[in-house]
Amino acid sequence: MNVDETLGLELRLKKLTRLVEVSLIINSTLQLEPILRQIMDAAAEIAEAEAGSIMLLDPKTRELYFMAFTSTSSEHHSATLKRIPVPLNNSLAGEVVLENRTIAVNDVSEHPRHFRKADATSGFQTHSLLGIPMRIRDRVIGVLEAVNKLNGKQWTDQDVYLLEILASQAAVAIENANLVTKLTEAYQELSQVDKLKNDFIAIASHELRTPLGVILGYASFLKEEAQGEASEHAAAVLNSALRMRQIIEDMTNLRFLKVEGAEPDFEVLPIAELMMSALNDVQSMSNASGYRLHYIVPTPDVKVRADRLKLIMALTNLLNNAMKYSPKNGFIELTYRLQPSEIWVIVKDQGIGIEKEKLEHIFEEFYQVEDHMTRRHGGMGLGLSIAKAIVDAHHGRIWAESPGLGQGATFYISLPLV
Ligand code: ADP
Repeated sequence: MNVDETLGLELRLKKLTRLVEVSLIINSTLQLEPILRQIMDAAAEIAEAEAGSIMLLDPKTRELYFMAFTSTSSEHHSATLKRIPVPLNNSLAGEVVLENRTIAVNDVSEHPRHFRKADATSGFQTHSLLGIPMRIRDRVIGVLEAVNKLNGKQWTDQDVYLLEILASQAAVAIENANLVTKLTEAYQELSQVDKLKNDFIAIASHELRTPLGVILGYASFLKEEAQGEASEHAAAVLNSALRMRQIIEDMTNLRFLKVEGAEPDFEVLPIAELMMSALNDVQSMSNASGYRLHYIVPTPDVKVRADRLKLIMALTNLLNNAMKYSPKNGFIELTYRLQPSEIWVIVKDQGIGIEKEKLEHIFEEFYQVEDHMTRRHGGMGLGLSIAKAIVDAHHGRIWAESPGLGQGATFYISLPLV
């Protein structure tokens, strides 16, 4: 082997080592900026070129962008990423994308598709260019370029071979970073909406209470004092105001349970006592509308660890729903079933039922199966989320089953046995 061959081998080894090194670095981060910078630097180094650059294809708009770093200082960290559009139909990079193949040009001045404007804006003079498609499977996501082969040389097969390896690794790292960015953005949007919702609940429940108290006071006074029709009108106002108070109570309860997260006040209690109390709470509504409430307690002294008031509230919410979503005089059953280490409290109705795909959503805050505009039943979509928050605090589970619309629904609360 002569000296030239030995030097050639050494150089090749150095480039391969650099390739491995850059692959490790770009796969160890999920941030786009450092990934792009590493790839551009490595492309220039490996292909012995003046610079490396990257163009990314926007999958939605199919626009191609040159990713440039704008920096006020030479410090890499203070640089920010800028997207400069590159015409897909009138540039060498565009040709690489459209034809999904590597293009090596040793003299761009001769090439009809060279995008001269890019040089004009960047002040960089392109002489020669090697463009490699970056692919995820067969889909092109961008172009990796090496620009200006040093010492006026021509691109070699080895340049193409090594940059194609780099481009395939770059594609995976860029795609991963993009996915993570999208996920983070979606998550931040959701948390923002959640915060707005919580703030809204806090403000609404607080600000509505005082005026509502006044309305309730005057309406009940008028109802008693006024005669005939006026008294009926006052009764209507009173009923609406009471419904509104229930909504505010729900919102306040939910906020209290979820945001302030007060620890439950646990006691060991017979489940029958809690079920009975919940039943008493809904008795007046049930009597008024003729619901047939059936209460079956197999063994009255089974005990659970529970926060009395909260668990009764969860059960009351289920019973109220069973009535709300059943025809008047509908049949409703409240019972429990013993499992090896837990107890399932069951509220079963023969009402409007719930479609399978809605079952998992009904415990979300403000979720209602019926559309707001066509809704026939009152409520805010909070009753079940309150019940769920309470059951969660008891380390239990809550779920619903229904054979389908019009076929009734069964709600379960599972609690650990003591
Ligand atoms: P609300 O009843 O105030 O709308 P909930 O959180 O209590 O809110 O319930 C959420 C949704 O779940 C209701 O809007 C209703 O569509 C559905 N749902 C709850 N309980 C029943 C039930 N027993 N039968 C049929 N649908 C129900």
